[in-house]
Amino acid sequence: MNSAVTSARSILTNLHEVMASRLSAQAKLNQVVDVIGENLDSEVCSIYLLREGMLELFATRGLEQSAVHVTRLAVGEGLVGTIAANVEMLNLAEAAAHPDFLYRPETGEEKFHSFAGVPIVRRERAVGALIVQHADPRRYEEVEIEALQTVAMVLSELISNAGLIDEHDALSASPQMTEPQQLTGLPLVKGLAAGHAVFHQPRINIEHVMAEDTEAEIQRVYLAFDKMRDQIDKMASQAEFGVGGEHEEVLETYKMFAYDEGWSRRIREAIDSGLTAEAAIERVQQRTRMRMRQIDDPLLAERMHDLEDLSNRLLRIVSGQVGTAATMGLRGDAILIARNLGPAELLEYDRRRLKGVILEEGSLTAHVVIVARAMGVPVLGRVPGLRGYVREGDEILLDATQGICNIRPGPAISEAFEAKSARNREKQAGYAALRDVEPFTKDGERITIMVNAGLRDDVPMLAATGADGIGLFRTEFQFLVSATLPQRDRQTRLYRDVLDAAGDKPVVFRTVDIGGDKSLPYLRGSEEGMDEENPAMGWRALRLALAREGLMKAQARSLLEAAAGRTLNVMFPMVSEPWEFDAARAVFEQQADFLRARRKMLPEQVRYGAMLEVPALAEMLDVLAPKLSFLSIGTNDLTQFLFAADRSNPRLAERYDWLSPAIMRFIRRVVLGVAGHDIDVTVCGEMGGRRLEALALIAIGIRRLSITPASVGPIKEMVRKIDTSEIRRAMERWLSEPVQDLRGAMIAWAEERGIDWD
Ligand code: PEP
Ligand code: MG
Repeated sequence: MNSAVTSARSILTNLHEVMASRLSAQAKLNQVVDVIGENLDSEVCSIYLLREGMLELFATRGLEQSAVHVTRLAVGEGLVGTIAANVEMLNLAEAAAHPDFLYRPETGEEKFHSFAGVPIVRRERAVGALIVQHADPRRYEEVEIEALQTVAMVLSELISNAGLIDEHDALSASPQMTEPQQLTGLPLVKGLAAGHAVFHQPRINIEHVMAEDTEAEIQRVYLAFDKMRDQIDKMASQAEFGVGGEHEEVLETYKMFAYDEGWSRRIREAIDSGLTAEAAIERVQQRTRMRMRQIDDPLLAERMHDLEDLSNRLLRIVSGQVGTAATMGLRGDAILIARNLGPAELLEYDRRRLKGVILEEGSLTAHVVIVARAMGVPVLGRVPGLRGYVREGDEILLDATQGICNIRPGPAISEAFEAKSARNREKQAGYAALRDVEPFTKDGERITIMVNAGLRDDVPMLAATGADGIGLFRTEFQFLVSATLPQRDRQTRLYRDVLDAAGDKPVVFRTVDIGGDKSLPYLRGSEEGMDEENPAMGWRALRLALAREGLMKAQARSLLEAAAGRTLNVMFPMVSEPWEFDAARAVFEQQADFLRARRKMLPEQVRYGAMLEVPALAEMLDVLAPKLSFLSIGTNDLTQFLFAADRSNPRLAERYDWLSPAIMRFIRRVVLGVAGHDIDVTVCGEMGGRRLEALALIAIGIRRLSITPASVGPIKEMVRKIDTSEIRRAMERWLSEPVQDLRGAMIAWAEERGIDWD
């Protein structure tokens, strides 16, 4: 046993007796300072506790007794206040040399030179400080500091049990955690939301700090380690939602830490010094956090974050407090706080109460974001250090449109937010009133407005928005939110339910667009090439589906069976050359023959379509178009390929504009290219859901849009205010001699005509 363990252990043994005694809380504190002072051979030992927002000297050995309950320091004032404010220890050979040193004559401390202090922490906030001082100018040894930190944990339990601190006071300790804060991030799903913070992984409250039976605690922690390692191994082998490289890296780091001997040894030593398993894990975690603050390397800091996650996992296992906030159920309007989430985890939440999500990580194309968008839940991502600013239950106003969130907002912010929400609600009410109004332009052109969907729960949006149908049903969502490959009967059931719910409105099913960044670990096979450098341009969508014939066949059968007796609209993603369309269609026709041979009912008609997402296909439309019933332009992928700009890279997010002459000319060429053929052309990328962009698409001849449900109202409103021939002429002008700023020209055009474009 090392000496840190021995000193902590002998102090704790003595403290055990003090705590078990029938003394008053004050008398216990008086004894505690004696025990610590003696054991650490320190002339002074003092305890400061937070009372009415001030750190008050509650007990001392070595300072003037008359200063007890008299000396008071604000958080941040003097060395004691600095320890509490930063929740960090100080260890100084010469206290007076420190810039924050503050001399309090009533304590008589002038004769003491060395000074060491640690915060007394409760629920991650300092509620006091434990200080030792010595006449000789010497720095305390690390083992002594560690012993002090262990004792501080015990003290936190003692003072809380004895009601020595007011929990409310405790909360006001750290301004970062208590004062209004505004944090910025990357808007992932735009929208406004208000609610109270709910941690996806709730923090664990440690009930008991001092162990009754050290051996039993060691057993508990060993068992927890075994369980945690099992979990990590499982996650690594069948990660439900492998989101590519980043996810895998995290798992690798988890694995490294989970098996790290040093970590488990330090926890064991902390238990040896007399702590419970929970307290020991927390104790080691505190030490890691402290070291982390001294690290300036962001990559290393990130890894330390992983260790923190793992430490919390271990704590949850050992304390039996498993499960996420979803398991416990949301009690009111909630803003979910997490480092990151998987799509299935998000789907576990009650949709009526989940108002918004804030993530420390996240990117635009992360699955969880796609699912949140489909659920209509605003998401703000990339808010570093988020969990250091929020407490469970804090009020949060999330403006994911502007990319900010206000935590514990003051009255002015709340008022402004309320005004913005009111304007929003008014607008929504206006849009809702358009539900049954058909979107005709002023010159009598009917624009078809459909919605994009992917989950069973999205289907009611069809009726709610009055949309003309589902123009893109992303069938891969079912695959993304499942732990295993959805079997044929599950697929059939979903497709049938969607068709039933849609009634006589059309639904366009897109065959699975998986692979690349939407990889499914349970599909991982030798040929998938998981480590692609450019997954968006990789082994994905139709490329993967055609190679995995079993997968495609099963989906074809499911779709054909689900649409028995009705029309089946099916389209293939990422068609790059016409033969791929032929091959995909052949799989469906083969399956139809199979069903026919077994006298199964078939769809009344099957309409086949292709997505135009790969620019090369635009050159082959004369070959492809005669085979198609419809063409759907997927502008999300198409534009990333046109500009060679990764759609998920936030640095490129603002660089190229959808409203650029290059994109508009390209799409116009596609529209003209299929003009002589009897096929529907739809735009189903996010672009069509934005007013100005939709206006531009209409100007180049697009008459069908499939968009996110929240955009149906705003687009209908805009459509009713325009004259297509007028905007067509303007666009011809802008594109023939390209304007520098097409967006600016369009904004001016819209404003002159009183058309809301934002
Ligand atoms: C697109 O690429 O525009 C599209 C609609 O498909 P997804 O966003 O699912 O890739
Ligand atoms: Mg696409």
